[in-house]
This record gives sequence, structure tokens and C-alpha cells, in this order.
Amino acid sequence: MHFIDVVLPIPLEKTFTYLVSEKEASFLKTGMRVAVPFGKTKIYTGLVYRVHQTPPETYKPKEIDQILDEAPIITPLQLKQWEWIASYYMCSLGEVFKASVPTAFLLESETLILRNENFNPEAETTLADDEWLVYEALQYQSMLKVHEVSSIVDRKNILPVLKRLLDKNVIQLKEEVYEQYKPKLVRYVKLGASYASDEALSKLLASLSSRAHKQRDVVMTLFSIEATEKKPISVKSLEEKSGASSAVIKTLVDKEILEEYYLQEDRLQFDLEEVSSLKDLNSYQTEAFDEILNHYKTDDVVLLHGVTSSGKTEVYVKLIEKVIAEGKQVLYLLPEIALTTQLIKRLQDYFGEKVSVYHSKYSVNERVEVWNHILQANEKAQIVIGARSAVLLPFSNLGLVIVDEEHEVSFKQFDPAPRYHARDTAIVLANIHKAKTLLGTATPSIESYYNAKIGKYKLVEITRRYGDVLMPDIELTDIKEKHRKKRMTGHFSDRLLEEMKLALEEGEQIILFQNRRGFAPILECNTCGHSPQCPNCDVSLTYHQYKNQLRCHYCGYAMAKQLTCLACGSSELDTKGFGTEQIEAELKELFPEVNVGRMDSDTTRGKHGYEKIITAFEQQEIDILVGTQMLTKGLDFRNVSLVGVMNADNLLNFPDFRAHERSFQLIQQVAGRAGRTKKRGKVIIQTYNPYHQVLQQASLNRYDELFADQINERRQFKYPPFTRMIKITFKHKDYNKVNEASSWYAKAVNTVFNATKTEMLGPEFPPVSRIRNEYLKNIVLKAPQNQSTVQTKEALRKIDKTFQAIAAYRSVRVIYNVDAY
Ligand code: ADP
Ligand code: ZN
Ligand code: ZN
Repeated sequence: MHFIDVVLPIPLEKTFTYLVSEKEASFLKTGMRVAVPFGKTKIYTGLVYRVHQTPPETYKPKEIDQILDEAPIITPLQLKQWEWIASYYMCSLGEVFKASVPTAFLLESETLILRNENFNPEAETTLADDEWLVYEALQYQSMLKVHEVSSIVDRKNILPVLKRLLDKNVIQLKEEVYEQYKPKLVRYVKLGASYASDEALSKLLASLSSRAHKQRDVVMTLFSIEATEKKPISVKSLEEKSGASSAVIKTLVDKEILEEYYLQEDRLQFDLEEVSSLKDLNSYQTEAFDEILNHYKTDDVVLLHGVTSSGKTEVYVKLIEKVIAEGKQVLYLLPEIALTTQLIKRLQDYFGEKVSVYHSKYSVNERVEVWNHILQANEKAQIVIGARSAVLLPFSNLGLVIVDEEHEVSFKQFDPAPRYHARDTAIVLANIHKAKTLLGTATPSIESYYNAKIGKYKLVEITRRYGDVLMPDIELTDIKEKHRKKRMTGHFSDRLLEEMKLALEEGEQIILFQNRRGFAPILECNTCGHSPQCPNCDVSLTYHQYKNQLRCHYCGYAMAKQLTCLACGSSELDTKGFGTEQIEAELKELFPEVNVGRMDSDTTRGKHGYEKIITAFEQQEIDILVGTQMLTKGLDFRNVSLVGVMNADNLLNFPDFRAHERSFQLIQQVAGRAGRTKKRGKVIIQTYNPYHQVLQQASLNRYDELFADQINERRQFKYPPFTRMIKITFKHKDYNKVNEASSWYAKAVNTVFNATKTEMLGPEFPPVSRIRNEYLKNIVLKAPQNQSTVQTKEALRKIDKTFQAIAAYRSVRVIYNVDAY
């Protein structure tokens, strides 16, 4: 008897054993997909974990439905990485599987089947019997479930027929109506086989010349292209070059003078002109580059701390050049792929087609293509640029991982599991491949800098901007005083306005940073103080002027703005606080002749949302760009001389142990957008607390001081990196249940960890304690650094098991978040 253990894309920890035939057993390998029945009716796509001959002890294994791959779609090294993720971040291997592969790889029985409106009914006759049955059923019903299809064709294993129907464009799948994977095909033409001989050919030309000169032109053009270019000729290029219509070409095809054929085209094609040669590094960059290489002789992780605009990217580029010359793959991780058009262009300039981008906004098709290129170690994907999830791709021969802007919070995934940190996972990935890691940033995270200080990472620094441009001049403006002296116009101080006028007169551009989107966060009644709340979450709704709406930023709930107070009926409603929209509106009054753009998640939806705004700003169609956080992430604009931070205080007052670190990073990063060429940039920071030490540190560029202060506080209050933080969240619709379940758990933790130095905070309701109608309560564990994390997690798993066995708590969701910061 032969068996396979299968990983299913579900949150259960173990693998499941299925029965296979001897032939199947010898064909199957770890990393291939199989379709397997699960429960009473479900069919899942699973991943073969192990092929063996030991029957399971406690249950009778089912047979598999079908083998879905001819070769593994994931690599052994990848599986090793997944196992680390599952164990470190306390989730199931199946959850990692699900998060890693493009959804096209996960056909499931819950999938709904729809008609594809593009299917041409005339092609009905080409359908096989079983295909036709499904097709017909879809004429009467708009949607079918997999088990319904199963009874229609009277067969259990229906994945093959679904696959054929998909290939023939008869059906679509619901979860991915636009995204079912199908390589894009391009139509090519060549001369028909019967005209291969010279003799036949000259006969043909003679016959065409008299009656059909257009057709003759097409054939002649085809010849001349064939003579100069030794590659396939697409119908499109033939049309263009011969000036003939597609009808003429079709006639030739019908006459079998031309023959059509199709080739698969990768949809990820870029307009590649010439590949540029790399820039020569200046002496600071060269020194950094040499130091990095030197460290790599003995160490694996280097932290490159280079001030903004010091030319870190060019140093990365040199490293990439070296690694790909050795035939190895490079992974380039970025916090936010949508913002990186600039960088992608830069890398493609240097490395041409070797650069692939893995992007969640790309369609499933595009993602599958990149996946396959990487898996096959194609030259096309030798350099992979991507955000967080790119760290889960099937590398086989990785030489270098670059984590750019390593301090960024968005590298950590919060929901759903796996709740991994891409930077830390990247270091593990590199380790598995015996590759090197480079963490780059102008404002290192406290934990990475600490690791560099204690020698776990090596530190390399660049302290000068490229071209010896000075660091921007940062000025703190006290808006409390400005208000008192009546020197504020709306949210603008006289100092900021002064500098803005100067910059605009010089034809320079301005960036204004406001850490909040929407017009004004909340609407408040002047009579009774009521502000409209989200019905599903425990938060006030945010006012959006543009749509005249109140919206919830947690669940997306929206309602039209009320004219009177919902509580007391008063019509005296006021807006409190301010966001990017209001800044934009004020600017239009202050500078009516100037073009103002806004960049926040409201204006940048859609695949090319960011690109449009960034390009418009680059092309100087926009003079003043107002935006949120997004503006801080590594953008390189040539003509920006002034940056304004509208209000630094709402950064500092955030209830989080990293608020000060984050404020420093944000201010330095946004300031770093100013004066990147020749002229020294100016930054005005408006604040009620100009003497706040973090603002002082940020304005004077004193990272070392910030680090010293922060690390002391962390040591004193037992925060990471001195402890490991695990957050356990309890979630349920019933308030009492959340309370009881979390107290039970807390008691268990107290008992189990009694003898250790592990500290527990909570159970506590978070600031927003109800989201989408579910109550949340948190327990935070701080385990001492010297305590084995494996043991801590093992103990938690045991508690979890007992907890799950209590019937009353079974419906409470428990979420583990390791390194929850
Ligand atoms: P960072 O990533 O450190 O913020 P960048 O790599 O974006 O800095 O460099 C800042 C600017 O200086 C970019 O416009 C870049 O093209 C330019 N630059 C950096 N290094 C060089 C070099 N060696 N030669 C020419 N230009 C350079
Ligand atoms: Zn009221
Ligand atoms: Zn809500």
C-alpha cells in the first residue's frame, strides 16, 4: 500500500494521509499538487508533503481524486522556509501554502462556476458531451457549485472537465472572474507549407500580381521581414509593415497561402530600449560597497545605514550585477510595490529583461508567470522585485536578498495568517540558500540597529548625500505661538507660507505631509458633542468632503453626511481635526493659480493610481503634492525644494511603544524628499511641541541619540529587542464570551508561565475594541530574550489545545501574532 501526506490550505496544523496506487506513488514527488476529497463534499487542492508506505493509525485514508502537476510547483528549500514560518509565527503549514501560491493554483470545491460571456455560441459544436452538459446547465442557471457540476456530469472527478471548459472560455470561476490563469497567446504567420519550394512560390507571386496586388504586397513584406529578422512574425507587425488590413491577411490564411500559429507571450513585457551601463560609484559609495563585500566573506547580514539620497540604490545595483554574474538569483524586497515605478524603471534600465516584478495588483496570470520563471530559474526572473509576499516565491538558487527601507512597518503581515515579518523571513530564506542579506535604510529600525551594535549584523554607513548635496535644513515652527499671535491662515503658519511662496517663485515643487486622510476625521455636534459612530465598529466615522460622506476606515461602512445631529437634532455640526483633503481645499484658496495634487489611499486606488500621480509630479504638472505616509517611501523627485509637515504631534501621540521611533523615521524620510539635487532643501515642521526631544533629534539628524534613548526605554520597560512579544487576540460577536474566554486563557498562562520571567499584559480591550461587529480582547506576552522561544510557543500550543476542547469557547477565534509590532 502507498500513501501520501498532503498539506491542505486550511488552518489545521497537521498533514492528511491519502491512499495512492503504486504507479501514482512512483510518479508523485514532494511539492506536486493533488486534488483530494475532504470532509463530506469538499475537494481541495493539496500539496504532496511526503510519499510513504505507513498507513495512518486512526482513520481509513481516502483516495486522491487527481494529480494536478507533472513536476513540483514548489521547491524543497521553499518547503523548509515554510516550515520555519509555520513554527515561528504559530500557524499551519497550510496557511503558509495558501499565502504563498497564486490563487490560480488552488482550485477548490467551493469555487463557483459562471458562464463566460465571451464564449461564442457558434463554437458550441466543438464541445465534448460532458462539456456541453455543463454549458447547457449554465444557460438556465447563472451559477453552479462544484458538486452540482458533479451531479450534472454524473462523475466525482470533475476537475478535468472544468479545466477544459476554462481553456475553451466557456466558464469562469467566481473568485477570480478576471483572473483564471491562461498564458496570453500571440498570433503569428508564416508562408504556407505548400509554397516552400521556389517554383511554387514564383507561381504564386505571378498569380497574385495580376489580380490581387494587396495580397502580393503582404507576401512580399513577409519575405523582406523574414530576410532581415530571424524571429517569428506576428500578425500585428505584418499588418503594420505591409499596411494591409487584417481582412487581406485573413484571405491569405483562408487560401492557405499563409499559415497562422500561436505562441505564448509573457504578459510582463516592458518597453525596453537600450540597457544603460551602471553608474560609477563615488568614493563613499565605493567604500560602502567594498566594506559590504568584505563583511560577506565572514558574515551573512549587513545593515547599510545611508542617509537619504546617499545613493544606496546604486550600491544595491552594483551588488546585483555581481551576484547575477555568478548565475544566482536576487530578491529585492520593498515595503510598497505600488510606489516603486521609479525603481523598477531604474533596474530595468540596467538589467533589462532579467527583472521581474511580483505584484499583488497584477492579475493571477501575471503572478503565475513570474512564479514559473522563478521556479525554473529562468534568466527572465533572475532579479525579482516585490513587496512582502515575494519572500515566499520558489527560489532555487538565491544569491542575495536586498531589503530596502528595512524599517518599514508594512513588511509585517497582520492579517490573515501567516503573520510574518518579511525582513526577518528574508534573512531566514537567505540562510537556507546560503545567500547574503543586505538591509538598507536611512533610518534603521531600533531592532536592526541593535543587532548591528551587538555584532549579529555588520554595519556599513554612508553619511553624505550623493553629489555632496547638504542634508535638508529642518526648521521647527511652534504653531501654538503662531495661533496666539494670529499668524495662522487655516492650517498654514506664516513661516510655511513664506517658504512656499519663495519656492513657487523659483519654479520649484513642494511636498506637504499630513498623516491622515479624509477631509476631517470626525464630525462633532456643537450642542451635545455627539459624533456619528460606525454601526459595526467602535470608532467615529471619518468625514470625506469629496463625496460628502462619513466613512469607517476599519470596515468601509459609509453614509451620507447628515445635516443635523443624529442625537439632538441640532444643525450646528463642526469638523474636528484635519486631513489631506482639507489641506488640498485650503491650498486652492491660498494659491488659486497653482496645481495641487493629492496622494493618499483615496486617490491611488487601482493598478496605476500611484503611477499617474507620481508621473504628473515628476513631469511638473503638479506644483504642490499633498499626501500621507505614502510620500515617505523612497521617492526620488528632482525639483522638490520644500517639504512641509502640517502637524507632527499626531505622530508623537500615538499609543504605541514605537511611536517615537516611527515619528523620527517618518519625519526624516519625508524630509529626505527635499533638495536631492544641488540646492539645499528646506523642511518646515509645524508642531505644538517644538521642544519635544524626538522632534529635536529628527531636525538635527541625530539618529544615534534617538537610538540611545529608545534602547534605554525598551530595556527599562521590557520591550523588544529585550523581550519577545506575542499578542494573543480573542474575537467573538458576544461581548461576554470574549471576556470569559480571555480570562480563562490568562489564568492558564499565569499557571504555566508562573516559574518563568514571562510577563503578561491584559486581557485588555484595544483602543478600537469592536471591528465588523466582533469584540476584540488582547493578551500580550513578553518573554525574556534568553528564554527559549520554541518552549514558549510549545507551552502556548498546549494551552490552546485545552482551550479548544472547552465547548463554550470553541466559537471564539484565537489569533496568535508573534513579534506583534
Ligand atoms: P538613496 O536610495 O540613498 O535615497 P538614491 O540611490 O536614490 O539614494 O540616489 C539619489 C540620487 O543620486 C539619484 O537620483 C541617483 O540617480 C543619484 N546617484 C546616486 N549615486 C550616483 C552615482 N554614483 N552616479 C550618478 N548619480 C548617482
Ligand atoms: Zn447633538
Ligand atoms: Zn466600521
